[in-house]
Amino acid sequence: MEFSSKLLEQAVDQMSQLPGIGRRTALRLVLHLLRQPEHQTEQLSQSLTNLRSHIIFCEQCHNISDTPVCEICSNPNRSSELICVVEDIRDVMAIEATGQFKGKYHVLGGKISPMDGVGPGELKIQSLVERVRQGEVKELILALSATMEGDTTNFYIYRQLEGTEVDISTIARGIPVGDELEYADEVTLGRSLQDRIPFESSLKRN
Ligand SMILES: [Zn+2]
Repeated sequence: MEFSSKLLEQAVDQMSQLPGIGRRTALRLVLHLLRQPEHQTEQLSQSLTNLRSHIIFCEQCHNISDTPVCEICSNPNRSSELICVVEDIRDVMAIEATGQFKGKYHVLGGKISPMDGVGPGELKIQSLVERVRQGEVKELILALSATMEGDTTNFYIYRQLEGTEVDISTIARGIPVGDELEYADEVTLGRSLQDRIPFESSLKRN
């Protein structure tokens, strides 16, 4: 791609680093921004800068938050005895959209994936173990995607919690194996939360 402007080329370079955005699409987006009123582009760049410099992670569940303890964790109407373990914030949003879950969350920040260099130490697993050991949690629902990495992560968490009193369950698989949680429709996801099964019986079935 030949550019008539270095500034244009730099903007396209930056834009095309986003997932799913090739250079052609990046060029289209940049040209679109150029056609917009200048304040609109300024608002876009300002909101991204604000996001990076001010966003924090909830100190209890590690969800993205504007406050040290997120709205879900600080909501007195939600049970602290039931915790749903998910990979990232998109899963929290998907489960919240079902309106079926009245517990709290624990956001791992990914799943164990040796191929991608992600080991247990890169994820918020230790803080989950500590949360459980504090004694308030009665049940953990493992709601990771039904992939090999998701299964590995589930099993690792299960082993880490051996000897604790907590009940561990896993969401029922109305979700086809290999699908990511965020793509499940709300009805299916809501049902698979309600129809969750004890984690140990899911091990025997495999
Ligand atoms: Zn939280």
